[in-house]
Amino acid sequence: MAEAQKMQVTDEVAISISNMNKWYGTFHVLRDINMTVNRGERIVICGPSGSGKSTLIRCINRLEEHQQGQIVVDGTELTSDLKNIDKVRSEVGMVFQHFNLFPHLTILENCTLAPIWVRKIPKREAEETAMHFLTKVKIPEQANKYPGQLSGGQQQRVAIARSLCMKPRIMLFDEPTSALDPEMIKEVLDTMIALAEEGMTMLCVTHEMGFAQAVANRVIFMDQGQIVEQNEPKEFFNNPKSDRTKLFLSQIL
Ligand code: ADP
Ligand code: MG
Repeated sequence: MAEAQKMQVTDEVAISISNMNKWYGTFHVLRDINMTVNRGERIVICGPSGSGKSTLIRCINRLEEHQQGQIVVDGTELTSDLKNIDKVRSEVGMVFQHFNLFPHLTILENCTLAPIWVRKIPKREAEETAMHFLTKVKIPEQANKYPGQLSGGQQQRVAIARSLCMKPRIMLFDEPTSALDPEMIKEVLDTMIALAEEGMTMLCVTHEMGFAQAVANRVIFMDQGQIVEQNEPKEFFNNPKSDRTKLFLSQIL
Protein backbone atom coordinates (compact mmCIF):
# COMPACT_ATOMS: atom_id res chain seq x y z
CA MET A 1 0.00 0.00 0.00
CA ALA A 2 2.70 2.47 1.04
CA GLU A 3 4.68 1.51 -2.05
CA ALA A 4 1.66 1.92 -4.28
CA GLN A 5 1.04 5.38 -2.88
CA LYS A 6 4.61 6.46 -3.44
CA MET A 7 4.41 5.32 -7.05
CA GLN A 8 1.07 7.01 -7.60
CA VAL A 9 0.44 8.55 -10.97
CA THR A 10 -1.47 11.83 -10.91
CA ASP A 11 -3.88 13.34 -13.43
CA GLU A 12 -1.55 16.28 -13.89
CA VAL A 13 0.12 16.33 -17.29
CA ALA A 14 3.93 16.50 -17.21
CA ILE A 15 4.64 16.22 -20.94
CA SER A 16 2.27 16.48 -23.85
CA ILE A 17 3.32 16.04 -27.44
CA SER A 18 0.86 16.48 -30.28
CA ASN A 19 1.23 16.01 -34.02
CA MET A 20 4.95 16.55 -33.72
CA ASN A 21 7.22 16.15 -36.74
CA LYS A 22 10.92 16.64 -37.06
CA TRP A 23 13.32 16.57 -39.98
CA TYR A 24 17.11 16.50 -40.13
CA GLY A 25 17.50 18.40 -43.39
CA THR A 26 15.25 16.46 -45.74
CA PHE A 27 15.22 13.31 -43.58
CA HIS A 28 11.87 12.94 -41.81
CA VAL A 29 13.11 11.55 -38.48
CA LEU A 30 9.98 11.85 -36.27
CA ARG A 31 6.51 11.38 -37.77
CA ASP A 32 3.27 12.51 -36.16
CA ILE A 33 4.27 11.85 -32.60
CA ASN A 34 1.42 12.04 -30.09
CA MET A 35 1.96 11.19 -26.45
CA THR A 36 1.01 12.36 -22.99
CA VAL A 37 2.99 11.64 -19.85
CA ASN A 38 1.25 12.24 -16.55
CA ARG A 39 3.06 13.34 -13.43
CA GLY A 40 4.55 10.28 -11.70
CA GLU A 41 4.38 8.09 -14.80
CA ARG A 42 7.34 5.96 -15.81
CA ILE A 43 7.58 5.34 -19.52
CA VAL A 44 10.02 3.02 -21.25
CA ILE A 45 10.77 3.72 -24.91
CA CYS A 46 12.29 0.94 -26.99
CA GLY A 47 12.82 0.23 -30.65
CA PRO A 48 15.53 -0.55 -33.19
CA SER A 49 18.65 1.55 -33.55
CA GLY A 50 17.93 4.60 -35.71
CA SER A 51 14.18 4.63 -34.96
CA GLY A 52 14.33 8.14 -33.46
CA LYS A 53 14.30 7.40 -29.71
CA SER A 54 17.20 9.71 -28.85
CA THR A 55 15.85 12.44 -31.12
CA LEU A 56 12.46 12.28 -29.38
CA ILE A 57 14.03 12.47 -25.91
CA ARG A 58 16.29 15.32 -27.00
CA CYS A 59 13.34 17.30 -28.40
CA ILE A 60 11.73 17.22 -24.94
CA ASN A 61 14.51 19.31 -23.42
CA ARG A 62 15.16 21.17 -26.64
CA LEU A 63 18.59 19.74 -27.35
CA GLU A 64 16.93 19.28 -30.75
CA GLU A 65 14.24 21.46 -32.29
CA HIS A 66 11.07 20.09 -33.86
CA GLN A 67 9.56 21.77 -36.91
CA GLN A 68 5.87 20.90 -36.60
CA GLY A 69 3.38 20.27 -33.83
CA GLN A 70 3.49 20.99 -30.13
CA ILE A 71 5.60 19.88 -27.19
CA VAL A 72 4.44 21.11 -23.79
CA VAL A 73 6.66 20.35 -20.80
CA ASP A 74 5.43 21.23 -17.33
CA GLY A 75 2.98 23.72 -18.82
CA THR A 76 5.55 25.44 -21.03
CA GLU A 77 5.29 25.10 -24.78
CA LEU A 78 8.66 24.62 -26.42
CA THR A 79 9.08 27.38 -28.93
CA SER A 80 12.14 29.38 -29.83
CA ASP A 81 11.42 31.63 -26.82
CA LEU A 82 14.66 31.18 -24.90
CA LYS A 83 13.36 32.30 -21.49
CA ASN A 84 11.02 29.34 -21.44
CA ILE A 85 13.70 26.95 -22.61
CA ASP A 86 15.80 27.75 -19.56
CA LYS A 87 12.85 27.09 -17.27
CA VAL A 88 12.20 23.75 -18.94
CA ARG A 89 15.85 22.73 -18.90
CA SER A 90 16.08 23.37 -15.17
CA GLU A 91 13.05 21.14 -14.58
CA VAL A 92 14.09 18.30 -16.85
CA GLY A 93 17.13 16.21 -15.93
CA MET A 94 18.88 14.14 -18.55
CA VAL A 95 21.18 11.15 -18.26
CA PHE A 96 23.02 9.95 -21.35
CA GLN A 97 24.60 6.69 -22.45
CA HIS A 98 28.04 8.23 -22.06
CA PHE A 99 28.05 9.86 -18.69
CA ASN A 100 29.33 13.25 -19.89
CA LEU A 101 30.95 14.13 -16.57
CA PHE A 102 33.56 16.90 -16.56
CA PRO A 103 36.85 14.96 -16.31
CA HIS A 104 38.84 17.80 -14.72
CA LEU A 105 36.32 18.39 -11.92
CA THR A 106 35.86 16.23 -8.83
CA ILE A 107 32.65 14.28 -8.35
CA LEU A 108 31.46 16.89 -5.85
CA GLU A 109 32.34 19.75 -8.24
CA ASN A 110 30.51 17.97 -11.07
CA CYS A 111 27.43 17.91 -8.86
CA THR A 112 27.63 21.52 -7.64
CA LEU A 113 28.65 23.33 -10.84
CA ALA A 114 25.19 23.89 -12.34
CA PRO A 115 23.40 24.52 -9.02
CA ILE A 116 25.97 27.22 -8.16
CA TRP A 117 26.26 28.86 -11.59
CA VAL A 118 22.82 28.30 -13.07
CA ARG A 119 20.60 28.16 -10.00
CA LYS A 120 22.75 30.64 -8.00
CA ILE A 121 22.66 28.41 -4.93
CA PRO A 122 25.29 29.19 -2.25
CA LYS A 123 28.29 26.85 -2.47
CA ARG A 124 27.84 25.27 0.95
CA GLU A 125 24.18 24.55 0.34
CA ALA A 126 24.97 23.10 -3.11
CA GLU A 127 27.59 20.85 -1.51
CA GLU A 128 25.14 19.63 1.11
CA THR A 129 22.60 18.83 -1.59
CA ALA A 130 25.27 17.07 -3.65
CA MET A 131 26.31 14.91 -0.68
CA HIS A 132 22.66 14.07 -0.07
CA PHE A 133 22.24 12.76 -3.61
CA LEU A 134 25.65 11.08 -3.73
CA THR A 135 24.58 9.24 -0.57
CA LYS A 136 21.33 8.34 -2.26
CA VAL A 137 23.17 6.77 -5.22
CA LYS A 138 25.43 5.07 -2.65
CA ILE A 139 28.80 6.66 -3.45
CA PRO A 140 29.30 9.53 -0.95
CA GLU A 141 32.85 8.31 -0.33
CA GLN A 142 33.82 9.11 -3.94
CA ALA A 143 33.03 12.84 -3.62
CA ASN A 144 36.60 14.09 -3.85
CA LYS A 145 37.78 11.77 -6.61
CA TYR A 146 37.81 12.51 -10.34
CA PRO A 147 35.53 10.74 -12.84
CA GLY A 148 38.45 8.79 -14.34
CA GLN A 149 39.06 7.14 -10.97
CA LEU A 150 35.56 5.63 -10.86
CA SER A 151 34.04 2.59 -12.58
CA GLY A 152 31.50 3.10 -15.36
CA GLY A 153 28.61 2.18 -13.08
CA GLN A 154 29.82 4.63 -10.43
CA GLN A 155 30.21 7.38 -13.04
CA GLN A 156 26.68 6.83 -14.29
CA ARG A 157 25.37 7.04 -10.71
CA VAL A 158 27.25 10.34 -10.35
CA ALA A 159 25.56 11.53 -13.56
CA ILE A 160 22.18 10.66 -12.04
CA ALA A 161 23.06 12.40 -8.76
CA ARG A 162 24.29 15.43 -10.69
CA SER A 163 20.95 15.69 -12.48
CA LEU A 164 19.03 15.32 -9.22
CA CYS A 165 21.00 18.21 -7.69
CA MET A 166 19.06 20.54 -10.02
CA LYS A 167 15.84 19.26 -8.38
CA PRO A 168 14.21 18.25 -11.68
CA ARG A 169 10.54 17.31 -11.88
CA ILE A 170 11.09 15.02 -14.86
CA MET A 171 14.04 12.73 -15.64
CA LEU A 172 14.97 11.61 -19.15
CA PHE A 173 17.29 8.64 -19.58
CA ASP A 174 18.84 7.74 -22.93
CA GLU A 175 20.19 4.18 -22.78
CA PRO A 176 21.88 4.81 -19.43
CA THR A 177 23.19 1.25 -19.08
CA SER A 178 24.13 0.35 -22.62
CA ALA A 179 27.76 1.45 -22.29
CA LEU A 180 28.23 -0.47 -19.04
CA ASP A 181 29.73 -3.86 -18.32
CA PRO A 182 27.05 -6.37 -17.28
CA GLU A 183 28.04 -6.39 -13.62
CA MET A 184 27.49 -2.64 -13.39
CA ILE A 185 24.11 -2.51 -15.04
CA LYS A 186 22.23 -3.62 -11.94
CA GLU A 187 23.62 -0.91 -9.68
CA VAL A 188 22.46 1.76 -12.13
CA LEU A 189 19.04 0.14 -12.64
CA ASP A 190 18.62 -0.13 -8.84
CA THR A 191 19.24 3.61 -8.59
CA MET A 192 16.62 4.23 -11.27
CA ILE A 193 14.15 1.91 -9.55
CA ALA A 194 14.63 3.82 -6.28
CA LEU A 195 13.91 7.06 -8.13
CA ALA A 196 10.77 5.57 -9.63
CA GLU A 197 9.58 4.46 -6.19
CA GLU A 198 9.81 8.04 -5.00
CA GLY A 199 7.37 9.09 -7.70
CA MET A 200 9.73 10.74 -10.17
CA THR A 201 8.26 11.22 -13.64
CA MET A 202 10.62 9.24 -15.88
CA LEU A 203 11.08 8.66 -19.58
CA CYS A 204 13.66 5.97 -20.19
CA VAL A 205 15.02 4.80 -23.49
CA THR A 206 16.28 1.35 -22.61
CA HIS A 207 16.28 -2.24 -23.78
CA GLU A 208 16.40 -3.49 -20.19
CA MET A 209 13.10 -5.28 -20.32
CA GLY A 210 13.37 -6.48 -16.71
CA PHE A 211 13.45 -2.85 -15.69
CA ALA A 212 10.48 -2.10 -17.94
CA GLN A 213 8.48 -4.89 -16.35
CA ALA A 214 9.44 -3.84 -12.83
CA VAL A 215 8.71 -0.11 -12.99
CA ALA A 216 7.12 1.08 -16.22
CA ASN A 217 3.48 2.13 -16.39
CA ARG A 218 3.74 2.00 -20.15
CA VAL A 219 6.13 0.75 -22.82
CA ILE A 220 6.32 2.62 -26.11
CA PHE A 221 7.74 0.93 -29.19
CA MET A 222 9.15 3.13 -31.94
CA ASP A 223 10.20 2.22 -35.44
CA GLN A 224 11.16 4.45 -38.37
CA GLY A 225 10.29 7.66 -36.55
CA GLN A 226 6.83 6.55 -35.46
CA ILE A 227 5.20 5.30 -32.29
CA VAL A 228 4.08 1.91 -33.55
CA GLU A 229 2.58 0.53 -30.37
CA GLN A 230 2.23 1.30 -26.68
CA ASN A 231 0.80 -0.63 -23.81
CA GLU A 232 1.24 -1.48 -20.15
CA PRO A 233 4.26 -3.79 -19.81
CA LYS A 234 2.48 -7.09 -19.26
CA GLU A 235 0.29 -6.68 -22.32
CA PHE A 236 3.15 -5.24 -24.36
CA PHE A 237 5.42 -8.23 -23.76
CA ASN A 238 2.84 -11.02 -23.68
CA ASN A 239 0.57 -9.82 -26.41
CA PRO A 240 2.34 -7.49 -28.86
CA LYS A 241 0.00 -6.35 -31.61
CA SER A 242 2.12 -5.30 -34.56
CA ASP A 243 4.46 -7.53 -36.53
CA ARG A 244 7.25 -4.98 -36.14
CA THR A 245 6.92 -5.15 -32.34
CA LYS A 246 6.87 -8.95 -32.42
CA LEU A 247 10.00 -9.03 -34.57
CA PHE A 248 11.80 -6.55 -32.30
CA LEU A 249 10.88 -8.48 -29.15
CA SER A 250 11.98 -11.76 -30.70
CA GLN A 251 15.38 -10.20 -31.32
CA ILE A 252 15.99 -8.76 -27.86
CA LEU A 253 14.25 -11.14 -25.44
P1 ADP B 1 17.85 5.99 -31.97
O1 ADP B 1 18.16 6.73 -30.73
O2 ADP B 1 16.51 5.31 -31.95
O3 ADP B 1 18.94 5.04 -32.36
P2 ADP B 1 18.29 8.53 -33.29
O4 ADP B 1 17.24 9.46 -32.79
O5 ADP B 1 19.65 8.66 -32.72
O6 ADP B 1 17.73 7.04 -33.18
O7 ADP B 1 18.41 8.69 -34.85
C1 ADP B 1 17.30 8.57 -35.73
C2 ADP B 1 17.76 8.78 -37.14
O8 ADP B 1 18.19 10.14 -37.32
C3 ADP B 1 18.94 7.93 -37.55
O9 ADP B 1 18.76 7.56 -38.91
C4 ADP B 1 20.13 8.85 -37.42
O10 ADP B 1 21.14 8.51 -38.31
C5 ADP B 1 19.53 10.19 -37.76
N1 ADP B 1 20.19 11.30 -37.04
C6 ADP B 1 20.37 11.39 -35.72
N2 ADP B 1 20.95 12.55 -35.38
C7 ADP B 1 21.13 13.23 -36.54
C8 ADP B 1 21.68 14.51 -36.87
N3 ADP B 1 22.14 15.34 -35.92
N4 ADP B 1 21.69 14.87 -38.17
C9 ADP B 1 21.20 14.06 -39.12
N5 ADP B 1 20.67 12.83 -38.88
C10 ADP B 1 20.63 12.42 -37.61
MG1 MG C 1 19.71 6.55 -29.37
